[in-house]
Amino acid sequence: MLIRRGKTIGICMGVKRVLELVEKLQKEEPSLPLCTVGPLIHNPLVLNKLAAEGVRIIQDPGEARTGVVVGRAHGLPRDVKEAFSRMPVRFVDGTCPRVLKTQDLAEKQSLLGYHIIIVGNSGHGEVQAIAGYVAGQNYTVLATPQEARACPLFSRNFVISQSTIRQEEYDQVCGVLKRRAEEEGRELKAVQTICPCTRDRQEALKELSNATDALLIIGGKDSANTIGLYRTALQLGKPVWHIESAREIPPEVFGCAVVGLSAGASTPEWIIRGVEQVLEQGSQEAGSISGPAGGHKNKLTTTEGRNMETLRSKKAFICDMDGVLYHGNQLLPGVKEFVEWLRKESKAFLFLTNASERSPRELQEKLSRLGIEVDSTHFYTSALATAGFLATQSPGGSAYVIGEAGLINALYDAGFSMNDINPDYVIVGESRTYNLETVMHAVKLVLNGAKLIGTNPDLTGPVEGGIAPATGSLISPIELATGSQAYFVGKPNPLMIRHAMKRLKVNREDTVIVGDRMDTDIRAGIEAGIEAVLVLSGVTNYENMKKFAYRPNYIFKGVGEIPHFKENGSGIEK
Ligand code: SF4
Repeated sequence: MLIRRGKTIGICMGVKRVLELVEKLQKEEPSLPLCTVGPLIHNPLVLNKLAAEGVRIIQDPGEARTGVVVGRAHGLPRDVKEAFSRMPVRFVDGTCPRVLKTQDLAEKQSLLGYHIIIVGNSGHGEVQAIAGYVAGQNYTVLATPQEARACPLFSRNFVISQSTIRQEEYDQVCGVLKRRAEEEGRELKAVQTICPCTRDRQEALKELSNATDALLIIGGKDSANTIGLYRTALQLGKPVWHIESAREIPPEVFGCAVVGLSAGASTPEWIIRGVEQVLEQGSQEAGSISGPAGGHKNKLTTTEGRNMETLRSKKAFICDMDGVLYHGNQLLPGVKEFVEWLRKESKAFLFLTNASERSPRELQEKLSRLGIEVDSTHFYTSALATAGFLATQSPGGSAYVIGEAGLINALYDAGFSMNDINPDYVIVGESRTYNLETVMHAVKLVLNGAKLIGTNPDLTGPVEGGIAPATGSLISPIELATGSQAYFVGKPNPLMIRHAMKRLKVNREDTVIVGDRMDTDIRAGIEAGIEAVLVLSGVTNYENMKKFAYRPNYIFKGVGEIPHFKENGSGIEK
């Protein structure tokens, strides 16, 4: 498969600027709470990442009590900005300079007596912010030629637009207004305020389409300019899909000879690269790796820059436990050598588990019984991730917990208190005390307004002699009875991986995840933007792996191969 990018795709100047602003504030003021007014940009993966880093979203100036508040790239109405500036916080305006220009134009022309017509979506934050600058609320918002035919025209009209609408849509609306103004003898001026970033991405997409069999448009499902790209792509007559991340790549794409990529102005490079990597892997045959049954001679070919040297040079290894290090009470082959190698090479490492019932100390003791001695700081559970995440969302909050000591202690350590009257959260993890009474109480609390959190979405977990229902199964009666959907913190939520990287103080480029499950470990790695290693020592075999729309970057029989595997020319061979 050939993968082609449009000449201009992805993040624009305004979005890049506001993300860099937040990053700078995080570095300058690490101890101060950081909030954004509404979502900073229209991209759920970026927003999840920010949430994982402790950045909260607030809507109302009344919620701004302390710390730093950043205004979004597409701007805020003047009165909202002024209200934030009066609060006891540092307000930092992240409005894109191009949007500021349009706001300025709206204000000046309305003060000169023009009725302002904004071509765009009345529900979009940017349009609402521009409208907030129009003197005397003297404005109309129009989205379609039909609306342009029906709206009242004033004696003096001034047309501007949302920065991210499509040129064709603007031209159609503006054309109707111009014709009407001429017929009705009204003055009508129009200034082009569509952002060049929107136009460039649209033009690049049209050019790209000629040389491809199918198109993937990458970006938030509520991002106006990404939706604009998707609509244009639909008109180009090629098969097209709008995806937010690599995990949404449809299987049909892997059968295409040439796939074109475009991405909206709020899609950062790491998301685009994640999609490219999955496409690259999906289009390659794999190299001399035998599955656990030992019958396959499939190949995992290395790609330029992705070889054993690249893998071994990673500074941090995040490893799943069950199926990677051990099965039940049996250590897997090569694990001792792998852990010795991690130590000898001074790698940062964390052993990660979605199970929430055990504390790091208990996990340390388990590995010790199996002959592996590592400090308890090397263990990270979904209970720790849940506690860490909620501490950033609601510092000093309270919870009603259905779970075991590992979860309850993690929450206490994160500053949470237990509360079964009116908690902020109902949190469910693996539990041996789960019963109808605890479920009924949880239902009552959720109906009274507590938010429902699951430590991990696993439906089952291994137990001695079989499987047992895990958190995903235990929480579903509460979801069904309340109509609320739980938020799960553990894998495949990339949030857990980002928290783990934060603990290890490493960045994405230096980190790799090692796991045995495609649907949790590998997916979490891809969505967190890190390279992923599948080991066939657990639940996945080579044939199962091929059913997924995404691929790991490396495949091994077990972790023991990571320090010793030898490459040979076009493929990896033992
Ligand atoms: S699309 Fe244009 S106007 Fe909007 S944030 Fe990006 S650079 Fe600014």
